[in-house]
Amino acid sequence: MTDLPIRDELRGVEPYGAPQLDVPVCLNVNENPFPPSEQLVADAARAVAHTVRGLNRYPDREATTLRERLAGYLDRESGVALRTEQVWAANGSNEIMLQILQAFGGPGRTALSFAPTYSMYPEYARDTSTRWVVGRRDDDFSIDAETALKAVAEHQPSVILIASPNNPTGTAVPLDTVTALHEATDGMVVVDEAYTEFRRDGVPSALTLLADHPRLIVARTMSKAFAFAGARVGYAAASEQVIDVLRVVRLPYHLSAVTQAVAVVALEHAAELQARVAQLREERDALAAWLRGIGLEVADSDANFVLFGRFADRHAVWRSLLDHGVLIRETGPDGWLRVSVGTPEETTAFREALVEVLKEHT
Ligand code: PMP
Repeated sequence: MTDLPIRDELRGVEPYGAPQLDVPVCLNVNENPFPPSEQLVADAARAVAHTVRGLNRYPDREATTLRERLAGYLDRESGVALRTEQVWAANGSNEIMLQILQAFGGPGRTALSFAPTYSMYPEYARDTSTRWVVGRRDDDFSIDAETALKAVAEHQPSVILIASPNNPTGTAVPLDTVTALHEATDGMVVVDEAYTEFRRDGVPSALTLLADHPRLIVARTMSKAFAFAGARVGYAAASEQVIDVLRVVRLPYHLSAVTQAVAVVALEHAAELQARVAQLREERDALAAWLRGIGLEVADSDANFVLFGRFADRHAVWRSLLDHGVLIRETGPDGWLRVSVGTPEETTAFREALVEVLKEHT
C-alpha cells in the first residue's frame, strides 16, 4: 500500500465504517429495526421484475419519476410544495453531500461544521480537496448562533454543513440559526435532515425556508424513516439552479434502474412506514427517560437514537454490552455512547444488558 502513488492525505487511512458484526441485537448504525411489510416486498418484487426486463438499457439519467414522487412526499410530510426540478436523488445522502462538495467545495475552498457531528463530513471534504474546519457546539450540543457566526466570519466557508437532528447527539438546530448562517455567508448552507421524520412535534423542517433562501440545500434520506438503508436512496431539495449544478457533477446514470424502481414503490407505502416512525419516536422518549431514571446523562434527541453517558471507560462498557450480545456505537465525545432505537424486544434486551454491565463496572 505504501509503495503505491496514493494521495498523501489517504496514506495509512482506514476505510470509514462501524463494525458489521453478527450479533443478536444490532443497535449501532441508526437503522430502522422494522423490515418492509410483505405487501411492500411483493410490490417491490413486481417492480424489480419489470425493471430487470429493461436492464439492457441505461436508467433514466434524471430519475424523473422518483424525483416527482419525492417532491409529493415532501409536500405531504412537511407541507412544502416543490417542483420536481427542485429535488435531486442519489445513492444515499452520503452521495448527495459528496456531490454538494464536488460542486461547491474544492481546492482553496473551506467547508465548516460544528462538532461533535457526523463523522463522514470530513471525509467528503478530504475526498474533494476541500479544507475542513469545525466550530464547537455548547455543552448541551446546541449551536450557539453567535459562536457560529464568528466561525463563518473567520473561515469564510463555501459550504456550511449542519446535521439537524445531529448525529451522534440527536440535537435539532432551530431554524433561526439556519437563517442567521445563511445571511452571514455567501456560501451554501446544507441542512442534513437524515433523521428529521423522528423530530419532536413543533420542530419545523428547513424545507420551509427554501422559498426565500436561495443558497440553502436540505439533504434527506430514505435510509432511516423509510427503513430503506439497503436500497441506498438519498435526496436533496433546493432551488432549481442549485439542483442544476448538482446535475453537472453527478456521474452519468448514477442511480440504477432497480434503485429508482424500488424507491418509487417504497414511497407508495409511506403511510405504513410513518406509523412505525411514530412508534420509534415513543420508544426513543421512553428509552431516554429510562436512562435518566437509572442516573445517566442523556442528550435530548429528535432522532432515532440516544447519546448517553458518561462513563470513565466507555470502551469497557461498549465491550461488555457486546459480550451480552448487544452492539451499540462508541462515538461522540469521550465518555458517551450512542444507542439506536430498536424494536421493543431489542430495546428491552439493551436495557437488561446495560443493567448487568453497570453492575460489573461500578
Ligand atoms: N447524515 C447523517 C447525519 C447520518 O447519520 C447518515 C447515516 N448514518 C447519513 C447522512 C447518510 O445516510 P445515507 O447515505 O444512508 O442516506
